[in-house]
Amino acid sequence: MTVEHSDFRSDTVTRPSSAMREAMAQAPVGDDVLDGDPTVQELEREAARWLGKEAALFVPSGTMANQIAVSVWTRPGDEVLLESHAHMLSYESGALGALHGVQTMTIEGEGGVMTREQVEARIRPDFVHCPRTALLCLEQTHMSSGGRVVPIERFHGPLLAARDRGIPVHLDGARLANAVVASGVSAEEWARQVDSVSLCFSKGLGAPVGSVVAGSAEFREKALRVRKRLGGWMRQSGIIAAGALLALRENVDRLAEDHALAKQLAEALHAMDGLVCPPETVHTNIALVRVEHPELSAVDVAARLFENRVRVMPLDPHHLRFVTHMDVGAKDLERLVRSLRGIMTA
Ligand SMILES: *Cc1c(COP(=O)(O)O)cnc(C)c1O
Repeated sequence: MTVEHSDFRSDTVTRPSSAMREAMAQAPVGDDVLDGDPTVQELEREAARWLGKEAALFVPSGTMANQIAVSVWTRPGDEVLLESHAHMLSYESGALGALHGVQTMTIEGEGGVMTREQVEARIRPDFVHCPRTALLCLEQTHMSSGGRVVPIERFHGPLLAARDRGIPVHLDGARLANAVVASGVSAEEWARQVDSVSLCFSKGLGAPVGSVVAGSAEFREKALRVRKRLGGWMRQSGIIAAGALLALRENVDRLAEDHALAKQLAEALHAMDGLVCPPETVHTNIALVRVEHPELSAVDVAARLFENRVRVMPLDPHHLRFVTHMDVGAKDLERLVRSLRGIMTA
């Protein structure tokens, strides 16, 4: 028998619960390409309602959801505005250039927060020599700053700058559910003024596969063609949509537990010599921890933790990333803290 690790690397490592597996096994299905799949349709309706949008489209991944939106809103030679550390820029394998022939203009945010003035200053003039600023992308929660929630009033600034110039806005809402639970602001409210929004079911919500991209009915029509082009239109996909549907219905509110555990984790680690993780920087389920040890790098600490059956992600020589999710709990945190005490004081 393999010994289970306490896995704090990512909220994508969760296994479907037996109830979820059962729902998937029992889901009514059809050929979604040929005549439609009833479970996919149900998920798309519910996800659209939850996001306050007219229509949603089921896709295999958050990356595809985001890239479909870029394809709908841009033409080759256009420019896309993004925060410097946006997932769409750093972790989607160069898709913006490779798939859509767009160039990017980045804005250095503070903890993911951009200002209205920063966005206004980067929008190109309507001038034949310049690329067309075709799209502004926002991200909530902001992954690389440690899952921080951009507060609603600051969220609106960049959005209004784009609106004023008639530029569409896409929200990368892979972890929007975490923002909803942490802020008490509904998904509908976060998504109200954006033209398209993505949402992942395979992160903290605990489904094995699946995301949606939502917007107007007209947006969905265009997105449908792009999904086909990318090979993301699946057949009896109700099997996986059933997992996503259960995730959306039952696993949103419980994200509060993940957030509380991440906060506890930050408090415990910040109190240790050689580890820095101010608890107030932890808004949701991600904790970024700075390692300040005379001999051990973050990579060394991660390797030692692995020997203690705790898995974490080193981001660079000085930082570790911890993510809480439905498959880690108080016992895992205990094991982590006990192991780290030994490692840091050895
Ligand atoms: C995970 C993530 C994505 C991509 O989702 P995949 O399903 O892994 O393709 C996009 N944006 C953000 C902010 C993410 O955290």
